[in-house]
Formats: sequence, structure tokens, C-alpha cells
Amino acid sequence: MNLKGKSAIVTGAGRGIGREICAALADHGVKVAAVDIKDSLLAETAALLQSKGVEVKSLVANVARGEDADKVCDEVAGAWGRIDILVNNAGITRDGLVLRMKDEDWNAVIDVNLKGVFNFTRSAARFMVRERSGRIINIASVSGLMGNAGQANYAASKGGVIALTKTVAKELASRNVTVNAIAPGFISTDMTAALPEEVRKRMLEVIPMRRMGEPKDVARAVIFFAGELADYVTGQVLVVDGGLLM
Ligand code: NAP
Repeated sequence: MNLKGKSAIVTGAGRGIGREICAALADHGVKVAAVDIKDSLLAETAALLQSKGVEVKSLVANVARGEDADKVCDEVAGAWGRIDILVNNAGITRDGLVLRMKDEDWNAVIDVNLKGVFNFTRSAARFMVRERSGRIINIASVSGLMGNAGQANYAASKGGVIALTKTVAKELASRNVTVNAIAPGFISTDMTAALPEEVRKRMLEVIPMRRMGEPKDVARAVIFFAGELADYVTGQVLVVDGGLLM
């Protein structure tokens, strides 16, 4: 996989899947701009990446704000000359049954999970189109493909990410910019640790591989889409879920 010297922006890089994606890119010699809403966790990600000997930037930004996305992309392109890879990973949950869902919980999830992907895609694509080269990789979810009771906001946001992925793939294909999505199933991070034990047990029973995924299972799919093995792949959704959805 020849990714050495390329530059990447990863959102939601402070922990979980985002941090693991940063580490996998750094292992392949990629310069990584790690973006998160909180400074404290970013410092840990940055220290991990520096130990791998690649150039690193830690940038605090809220993906839901268009001006933050522009600032991050301008800074990365200014410092490193180009943006080769964008991984839209930042995401949140505010679960609840639809009859009781508050406007603020709907809006918060759509703003971060869907508008955040739009904001960073629009900002980074300006540079990728100019270079006639780029990879945009969006972290969706199986919830966006199959729905999930208690996650109307989250599933709608992730379904929206999948539609956005296909649309932007069509718009940018002629400029040699590919846009793909990964739909993880049940991955072991703080997000799933917050679920009640009963829900976790039930999830494990319906996963044919009988285990939760690890952040590295998702990071490996990112490396595939970022590298030359996926040169002719765009507008696709790769499900990484141990067989949950089939
Ligand atoms: P996580 O452990 O909660 O990490 C998410 C990271 O995103 C956190 O560092 C969080 O910062 C950051 N973030 C939240 N809002 C942000 C914002 N507005 N701007 C910038 N950064 C923000 O989640 P994860 O499990 O690693 O999930 C990563 C992605 O995978 C998400 O898109 C999620 O929907 C998706 N996914 C996860 C699973 C799973 O089973 N874990 C399954 C399918 C899809 P804070 O520390 O401040 O919260």
C-alpha cells in the first residue's frame, strides 16, 4: 500500500475509531491532521502518532460548523500543500424512541453526523478537485442501512451520509476524487460501552461472528479505500459488522 508522504484529515480523532484510523494511516507513513472538538483527548492521539515518526497536527474544531471545516482544510492544505485523504468519522448518539425524541436531540445528531460530513467534504473537495486527486471516506453505520429502534436521529443521519457519499462520488468522479463509506456494525468503543448490558448481550447474539468489532477492523477498511487497491472504487458502502447485516 503506497500511502507514504500523503496527507490526511481525520475528524473525531480524539478517541475510539477515529484514533485507530489515525494510527493506521500513520503506520503507512501518512501525515495526519487529527481533528476533534476537545483538546484534552487530541493530545493523547497526537502523542501516539508522533511516536510513529510522522508529521502530525492536532486541530480543535466542531464539525457542525462550516467555518471550522474551512479553517482546518485551509490550514492543512497551506502547511502540507494538499489534502489527499479526508476521513469523516466524528459522530454522536442521542438515543430515544421517536415518540419521545426532543428537537434538540434530533438536531444535535443531524448537525454533527450529517452536516459535519457535508461541511468537511465541501471544504476539502476544493483542494482535491484542484489536484485532480483525492479520497473521501465517510464513517456511516449499519443503522443507516437497516434502521435501529431507538435511533431515529442517528439512523437518519447515517442513511443521509450514505446518500451524500453516492451523490458526491458522482459529482467528483471525473476529477479523480473517490468517495466511499464504511458501515460499521457493533464496535467496541466508548460509544457502545455506554449501552446497557442487556442491549450489548442481545447484539452479540445476532452477530454471526459472535464478537464485537474492534476499531482496527474499521481502520483496515479505511486503509483499503485510501490506497491504490481501491483506485477504481467509488460510491460504495463497505459493511464491517461480523455478518450482522446480510
Ligand atoms: P466515540 O468513541 O464517541 O468517538 C467519537 C469522537 O468524535 C470523540 O472523540 C468525540 O469527541 C468526537 N466528536 C463528537 N462530536 C464532535 C464534533 N462536533 N466535532 C468534532 N469531533 C466530535 O465514537 P466511536 O465509536 O469511535 O465512533 C466513531 C464513528 O463511527 C462515529 O461516526 C460513529 O457514529 C461511527 N460508528 C460507531 C459504531 C460503534 O459501534 N462504535 C458503529 C457504527 C458507526 P468527544 O470526546 O468530545 O465526545
